[in-house]
Amino acid sequence: MTQLTEEIRQALKDALGPKGWSEDSSELAPHVEDWRGRYQGSTPILLKPGSTQEVAAAVTICAEAGIAITPQGGNTSLCGAATPQGEVLISLKRMTRVREMDIGNDSMTVEAGCVLENLQNIAADADRLFPLALGSQGSAMIGGLISTNAGGVQVLRYGMTRELVLGLEAVLPDGTIWSGLTGLRKDNTGYDLKQLLIGAEGTLGIITAATLKLFPRPARTELAFVGMDSVGDAVTFLGLAKRLSGNAVTAFEILPRIALERVLEHVPGTRDPLESEQAWYVLCELSFGRADGARETLEEALGEGFEQGLIKDGAIAENETQARDFWRLRESIAEAERAYGRSVKHDVSIPVSRMAEFIERGSARVTQAYPDAVVFCFGHVGDGNVHFNFASPSPGQAEEFMAHAAGISGIVYDTVAEFDGSISAEHGIGILKREELASRKPVDVKVMRAIKSALDPKGIMNPRVLLG
Ligand SMILES: Cc1cc2nc3c(=O)[nH]c(=O)nc-3n(C[C@H](O)[C@H](O)[C@H](O)COP(=O)(O)OP(=O)(O)OC[C@H]3O[C@@H](n4cnc5c(N)ncnc54)[C@H](O)[C@@H]3O)c2cc1C
Repeated sequence: MTQLTEEIRQALKDALGPKGWSEDSSELAPHVEDWRGRYQGSTPILLKPGSTQEVAAAVTICAEAGIAITPQGGNTSLCGAATPQGEVLISLKRMTRVREMDIGNDSMTVEAGCVLENLQNIAADADRLFPLALGSQGSAMIGGLISTNAGGVQVLRYGMTRELVLGLEAVLPDGTIWSGLTGLRKDNTGYDLKQLLIGAEGTLGIITAATLKLFPRPARTELAFVGMDSVGDAVTFLGLAKRLSGNAVTAFEILPRIALERVLEHVPGTRDPLESEQAWYVLCELSFGRADGARETLEEALGEGFEQGLIKDGAIAENETQARDFWRLRESIAEAERAYGRSVKHDVSIPVSRMAEFIERGSARVTQAYPDAVVFCFGHVGDGNVHFNFASPSPGQAEEFMAHAAGISGIVYDTVAEFDGSISAEHGIGILKREELASRKPVDVKVMRAIKSALDPKGIMNPRVLLG
């Protein structure tokens, strides 16, 4: 890849103006290290365009000179996808305008740098729901969320980000602006170009704005924290809760006892909602368009769960504070995991009907090969997506344990393949899983490379990521 010359550096600065770039090492520092602290990168210059035209100007200059670019949103990628390794870094953080709220159409058009939590609040102020919700929502930006096709805790009801996007505007790798912003729900005019950019991890262009779907706000949300003997019981209860509630389940998250114990130990102010100790816990959230009958529906589902022997203990959140406390237990797992030591992490998906069998087989194989490994498996079990992690036996053994990472991941991914699952349910490929993707999906990668070279013949867009 071509190096940035002084002449091109100056051309970029001139195109973006004084607010649009930085070479200040203290400003660059948080942009060149990933959220987990696993990848330390570098960039010759941070560009901060304030408009689509400025993004296009910067990309055109880089494209003509064959200079590589890494686009960046909130830099919360969990697979090193947004960490530049010498590329020009383009941050969308100054592009934060809401261009249009079309309440009659249940849609909003926003710029790529809008932080998810702000978008949720803007939708709520308009008495609508933007349902994408995940642990990084205070930092992740809509351009990054779309580029990783993010999931989160409400996929069960509203789908992945891909299903929430109606239209996109993007700057293609030659600097052309593609205006695909539309609020249409039906548009059969050939290839759906936005779907190529969604989940492309910044390898096919830079998303500058998006038209997003909005939904009616639920009148009432009910949340239960229940204890169970097994993952199989949790999956059976999910079916029961969906059926009895008329498909009102919006979130269904699972955590094992060890995850709860680590949260209670490492996260101040948390407490166990149940009096008895259980092997597994589920957070089950139901959302309703009408408030009346909501609590009764949840109680009916829990009652049936107890009667069938699926639920061993449970608590219902009596108010918003309690609901937040319950959610905090789930949302703090990653923090507690980090505070304790290190883990070999996997973000896998399996058909939900085979989840229990997968967890049992995968755990047995890993612990047979590495008897010290602590199974630490939690997540969006309702979507068939779990974070199938293996933790070091103690913080002091963390480094020694991580030497087994490749061996453990190999066993996990071989087991995933036996169950027709995916090695990346929602975090993406980034730098972390490129080799794994290439070896496990060679035909897919061949087709992806053909698409990439058609749109980005010089290979300048995020060249180290996804296809590598
Ligand atoms: C605590 C925590 C919890 C998380 N929970 C979940 C979860 O439940 N579900 C889930 O799916 N993910 C989760 N994630 C990871 C998730 O992928 C990111 O949070 C989010 O989708 C990335 O958004 P971002 O703005 O930070 O993008 P970045 O990290 O900045 O970038 C991610 C990728 O998108 C590209 N990119 C960024 N902006 C653009 C753009 N405008 N145009 C083109 N390409 C772009 C980057 O080059 C990179 O390849 C979590 C992360 C953290 C830290």
